Amino acid sequence: MEPSANDKNCEDYEIIRWFEEVAENAGFVQTRILGRILEVNFGVEYLKKWMGDIRIQEMEPSSLESLYTTLVPLASHADLEPYIHRIADGDTSSLLTQEPITTLSLSSGTTEGRQKYVPFTCHSSQTTLQIFRLAAAYRSMVYPIRAGGRILEFIYSSKQFKTKGGLTAGTATTHYFASEEFKIKQKKTKSFTCSPDEVISSGDYKQSTYCHLLLGLVFSDQVEFITSTFAYSMVQAFTVLEEIWIDICRDIREGILSSRITLPKMRKAVLKIISPNISLASRIEEKCKELEVLNWFSLIPKLWPNAKYVYSIMTGSMQPYLKKLRHFAGDLPIVSADYGSTESWIGVNVDPSFPPDDVTFAVIPTFSYFEFIPLYRQNPDYSSTIDDFIESEPVPLSQVKLGQQYEVVLTTFTGLYRYRLGDVVEVAGFYKKTPKLNFICRRKLILTVNIDKNTEKDLQVVVERGSQLLSRTRAELVDFTSHADIANQPGHYIIYWEIKGEVEDRILGECCREMDASFVDHGYVVSRRTNSIGPLELRIVEKGTFKKILECFIGNGGAMSQFKTPRCTSNQVLLRILNACTIKRFHSTAYG
Ligand code: AMP
Repeated sequence: MEPSANDKNCEDYEIIRWFEEVAENAGFVQTRILGRILEVNFGVEYLKKWMGDIRIQEMEPSSLESLYTTLVPLASHADLEPYIHRIADGDTSSLLTQEPITTLSLSSGTTEGRQKYVPFTCHSSQTTLQIFRLAAAYRSMVYPIRAGGRILEFIYSSKQFKTKGGLTAGTATTHYFASEEFKIKQKKTKSFTCSPDEVISSGDYKQSTYCHLLLGLVFSDQVEFITSTFAYSMVQAFTVLEEIWIDICRDIREGILSSRITLPKMRKAVLKIISPNISLASRIEEKCKELEVLNWFSLIPKLWPNAKYVYSIMTGSMQPYLKKLRHFAGDLPIVSADYGSTESWIGVNVDPSFPPDDVTFAVIPTFSYFEFIPLYRQNPDYSSTIDDFIESEPVPLSQVKLGQQYEVVLTTFTGLYRYRLGDVVEVAGFYKKTPKLNFICRRKLILTVNIDKNTEKDLQVVVERGSQLLSRTRAELVDFTSHADIANQPGHYIIYWEIKGEVEDRILGECCREMDASFVDHGYVVSRRTNSIGPLELRIVEKGTFKKILECFIGNGGAMSQFKTPRCTSNQVLLRILNACTIKRFHSTAYG
């Protein structure tokens, strides 16, 4: 029997109560969680290497915590990679976990040019289900939705493949969408995705996007909210809708499926759902004609009149898509989704009504054991080319301080021990006794020629300032990336822009100058003044260039759901695409 809306309220209440309790006792819970991780993975090769044969079962949890952080060093992915490789190659001995690892996930980024694998276990799917249910409970307190409704989800699985040792590999979202937990989530939250599995897992993101849109419109009156993992996929999908709505309306009118859908399984599954609906097709057609005149402003509430909100990760590297998402969402609330990584989920958004710019993530202390490396901005005159921060000793979750920035360190149930995630966060407050984190940026510097140090966040701010000048025109920035060119002397920054609409060269020249002048990093400013870094270059690439980059990522086994445009690249394949597609170049006149 289907549970009623009342049962759902009860379940929401229960999961929130559970979280309040663990948050209230966050320090204690963390110590217990570490004890549990070490207990279930006692004797694995990696831990033995650092902790020897210490009988942890006989230790007090708090003594074990301090012993662990004293004996086991902080690790990067490169330190764990030899173990993960052995697992991928079929070594079944207990290397990182006692439970055999049968699945590996592809995390974003690479280690020395190789794709980064991390272990995936049923714990990963269980925590995904748990955070989704928790986040849904908080959302439903502010934006209640009708039980039994639909969700328009722009979600995509990549192809799963086998490693040399026969393990299943793919992105974490792919594993999750294929898991039992994904089906349970739909039942538990009583909201069903519009698209069948065949659409989510087709492996062809263009065909999947078409069908997501088609089915989303077929069920348009039932759609309660619209979502994607990262905001990029949603913006991408609605941009596609601007071009294909006529075909979609024809399919709805006649109950057929466009010949652009060639995958037999997907065709069959979608055709089973749709049937001719002349009045719906005419209504959508009418609205799309109106929207076209309005440059598709407020597209979402117009086409999905019962949607209560839009939900996706909009922070960090997704911030540049926020403006476009707001344009599509009109007055509809946009709710920023939770904070996590392939390695572990981290925090939940407990304030869904906050605008994405103010969103924080309350750390869930049962998911992993979290440590935080305090980070301090360097004295501007101190020139290290490695990083922009100096760090002090890691502290446990219970000792983080308000306003302090930290790098996140994880010890997980999946066999990562004191693993540096590489994300910089700031403690913005507390929920009971667990910290609420603000995501700041990836720690790694992305733009550096010599003594200059700029992070993704610095680049984002600069591009935002430069592109503000486009508001005088009817053009908009579609996407951007950058490259520190050190092949020619003096080295200089190149920023690539894809623009929609026409802009005079004079204005683009001003945008270029504005960006150059907006980097505030002391090393950059000094180097520009002395010309040890040359003038910033703005390269305009032709329409569709960033789609080619996305296709390149997907061609390498990535999934649309997890795609994040690289904000800086030295990857030769991407640079070749960018340079071949460059149609205009501008050099900054800032600094004379
Ligand atoms: P992946 O390794 O592909 O799973 O991506 C995980 C990374 O995405 C994290 O380490 C963060 O850098 C970023 N990320 C995930 N969630 C958020 C969020 N809510 N806000 C900002 N960045 C996020």
